[in-house]
Amino acid sequence: MNLPSETAGTIVIVGGGVIGSSIAYNLLQDGYLGRVLVIERDPTYKRASSFLAMGGIRQQFSSPVNIELAQYSTRFYQVFDRQMQVPGHTPDVNFRQRGYLFLVDEASADRFEARVSHQRALGASVERLSIDQLHVRLPDVRLDDIEFGVFGPKDGYGEPREVLAGFRAAAAAVGASYLRAEVVDLIVRPGQIDGVILNSGERLFADAVVNAAGPFAHKLAAMAGIDLPVQPVRQHLFRCELPRRWPYKFPMVVDPTGVHWRHDDNPTSSTGDCLIVAHTRLDEPPGETFTCDLSRWEVDFRLPLVERVPKLEPVKLIEGWAGLYAMTPDHNPLLGQSSKLSNFFLANGFSGHGLMLAPAIGKVLSELIRTGQSETIDVTCLNPDRFEHGKPVHDEAMI
Ligand SMILES: Cc1cc2nc3c(=O)[nH]c(=O)nc-3n(C[C@H](O)[C@H](O)[C@H](O)COP(=O)(O)OP(=O)(O)OC[C@H]3O[C@@H](n4cnc5c(N)ncnc54)[C@H](O)[C@@H]3O)c2cc1C
Repeated sequence: MNLPSETAGTIVIVGGGVIGSSIAYNLLQDGYLGRVLVIERDPTYKRASSFLAMGGIRQQFSSPVNIELAQYSTRFYQVFDRQMQVPGHTPDVNFRQRGYLFLVDEASADRFEARVSHQRALGASVERLSIDQLHVRLPDVRLDDIEFGVFGPKDGYGEPREVLAGFRAAAAAVGASYLRAEVVDLIVRPGQIDGVILNSGERLFADAVVNAAGPFAHKLAAMAGIDLPVQPVRQHLFRCELPRRWPYKFPMVVDPTGVHWRHDDNPTSSTGDCLIVAHTRLDEPPGETFTCDLSRWEVDFRLPLVERVPKLEPVKLIEGWAGLYAMTPDHNPLLGQSSKLSNFFLANGFSGHGLMLAPAIGKVLSELIRTGQSETIDVTCLNPDRFEHGKPVHDEAMI
């Protein structure tokens, strides 16, 4: 597929979350002269993963492609609030580079030692912290069962809803149109996609269609007869209030139990200092379930948290919510052209890291759609057919 700017036609992007909006923004920013139309069924985004995310942004992956995507995106987030300012919208992502800190116990020490050398060799910014160094950084954290820490000083977190609003406003400012509608079918003929059918019955013709439907990507692809290996899987988050103003800010701390938390110091919040706490349940069954199971807070979240930081014992639960990860068999995204329909592009299956990678994904998809090649970062290994060819991508740094 090659849609050079001078012969540009209409590109329809289905899904206006961070991924769809970043693709729209990058296409137009890169000089695409045709029409870019983003179709989003719910502009309140209340079930969009982008709206429900934790906001973690890290470089600490273990595969070259994810490290490169994350490094590009980290640089972008450093200047997001300035660079993505457009008339009528000033983003406040507030990317706080307080780091991601993995606490490493004896059982995982060898694995992390190897991972750190590997990450360094690939150019990721990562430090090994001794127990003394950990004590200085996080004086209240219990370390008697910890061997060392692995810290990414360029990592951190930002406000997901501001990322979403920022990409959307910037895409619109450079010329993308947003249409509130649901795509209920795709117009296909052998080897090609001709457009989409909306819930109103309207048929919209397009030169290329992009699947940016997040956890609903499988449903969209199925309309074209494609069985995409992407499943929605529920992920919980809880916000709790700290017993007092904390004397320092937590980085994203990842405990050996899997529970991880970050500071939530949004100055507009009416509560005091808060934490956002996550704990991925590995046996969560796939499905479009948004119900928050509040009973998980006590055992799966609060207990491991206060065991690690005993002074957090009086934390007060403020709220919990659940959103959907879009999971692929290797937990890495599917990026690029569909082998079945040459002008159908996929940007799906980001599991728990679509927000942090969104800037790079937009750039890469813009290049793939316009020129047929991704020059900024080679994402060939993330091609959507890799499972059929028995070539999953291994990255052990998944949370
Ligand atoms: C609880 C939770 C915590 C997370 N934490 C992090 C984190 O810390 N860091 C990180 O990087 N990532 C995190 N993620 C993952 C991240 O949120 C996602 O990978 C990312 O938001 C995916 O963006 P998206 O645009 O693909 O999907 P979405 O934001 O879900 O957007 C897809 C959009 O497509 C629309 N749509 C779907 N089908 C149709 C249709 N047929 N017609 C019209 N519109 C349609 C939907 O309405 C939706 O708005 C988290 C996710 C969850 C659920």
